[in-house]
Amino acid sequence: MGKRGPTSGEIAQEEQDRKMDNCLFCKIIRGDIPANKIYEDDDIFAFNDINPVAPVHFLLIPKFHIAALTEVEDKHQILLGKMLLLVPRLAKTQGCTDGFRTIINTGHVGGQEVFHLHIHVIGGIERLPVMIRHG
Ligand code: AMP
Ligand code: ZN
Repeated sequence: MGKRGPTSGEIAQEEQDRKMDNCLFCKIIRGDIPANKIYEDDDIFAFNDINPVAPVHFLLIPKFHIAALTEVEDKHQILLGKMLLLVPRLAKTQGCTDGFRTIINTGHVGGQEVFHLHIHVIGGIERLPVMIRHG
């Protein structure tokens, strides 16, 4: 049988593998870098932020490498819904009994530092400082 070039699916897979090899959060999911894991299922991973800004500060990430919220596609709809549904449940188990804050930093303007989509969940007992001040 003659040699064939890679299919577009194979090229896309190689691209995905390359991104995952170099990504800090993919390394955490693989266990190559240690993290304080608080939750894991087939699609989602959650762990404490290494530099917490409040008593509760964890990150919820998809196991599938998506660089940022700007990169999501229709096919990610169920995954994103699953992540959002998990937020209040995990927040409660982590000690947020009266609310919390969710943040998704996106891109340069959003101050994103790690380019693997993540939801920050921040809280504790005390009211958090106001983030958006009107007037
Ligand atoms: P962002 O600015 O939204 O990209 O936030 C990235 C977050 O990842 C920051 O809050 C960091 O403290 C956190 N972070 C960076 N490296 C690690 C790590 N090895 N384990 C846990 N959290 C991390
Ligand atoms: Zn990644």
